[in-house]
Amino acid sequence: MRINIDKLKTHTFKIVIAPTLAIFLGLASAANLAADTVQVFACEPEWSSLAEEIGGDRVKAFSATHAQQNPHFIRARPSLIAKVRKSDLIFCSGAGLEVGWLPILIQKAGADLQPGTNGYLMAGDHVQLIEQPHSHVDRSMGDIHPEGNPHVHMDPRNILIIAKELTKRLSSIDPGSSEFYAGQFDSFSKRWSEALSGWEKEISDLTEHPIVTHHKSFSYFVNWANLKDVGAIEPKPGLPPTIRDLNNLYTSIKDIDELLIIRSPYDPAKGATWLGEKTSRPAIVMPYTIGGNAKVTDLFSLFDESIRLLKSSL
Ligand SMILES: [Zn+2]
Repeated sequence: MRINIDKLKTHTFKIVIAPTLAIFLGLASAANLAADTVQVFACEPEWSSLAEEIGGDRVKAFSATHAQQNPHFIRARPSLIAKVRKSDLIFCSGAGLEVGWLPILIQKAGADLQPGTNGYLMAGDHVQLIEQPHSHVDRSMGDIHPEGNPHVHMDPRNILIIAKELTKRLSSIDPGSSEFYAGQFDSFSKRWSEALSGWEKEISDLTEHPIVTHHKSFSYFVNWANLKDVGAIEPKPGLPPTIRDLNNLYTSIKDIDELLIIRSPYDPAKGATWLGEKTSRPAIVMPYTIGGNAKVTDLFSLFDESIRLLKSSL
């Protein structure tokens, strides 16, 4: 029998070589994609979420903390050091929030991403910090926030300012995609501005409404929303309240109607619960960041849900 070599060749190509080639090319392009993806090490979920909004599929973002963790204090675990080593951009709140752990991670990782480089983005460096101490800072003023309040993401206007800076940084790290990032920013900025006017309208019902927070985590929100800060459960940032502190706070607010009492998911529940029982008001757990409750899956739902929770408690 004569074998048609050409036919056999074609056949072999079809059943063996072609699929192998396809798999190989597929793997190669997946590997290329992974190598080309900008690796973002975010300290908190709000920043990994913003990196995803602007970076789309050209960015792979990781958050070192989750919503139930107190971002002031986490352990500089070896897995985090490895993540820092692989990253192209470190994106955090700054203003001292991560001072207890981020410098250790960077030092141990031997990373090039030092302050002052394009790959080191601290949100607090780009917005107006509030609650900056006017004079000399010492331990008697509390354990944390010596540079001013670092919880900047809770003012929705700050998100847009930081998104713009993030777009610049991504474009300098990955110049080939700069047009893509600019387009992503435009789309985000449009959607955010629309959402912002809706939130401003909704929250205006609460203008000057009295509120007690656990920690100063919500000061930017309180400012933006024109709420009236009438006290904090922590007598100073980072200091747990004594019974005497709580009693003093109660005395000062006990005649207020419909007081709002809020804390973050990671704040200890005790103080807020105690005050809530004394005043017969709900102690609201505000989401604070993405994942803070099941409804909060991105920055938009963070503000939707925060406003909804406050309004529904009245
Ligand atoms: Zn704080």
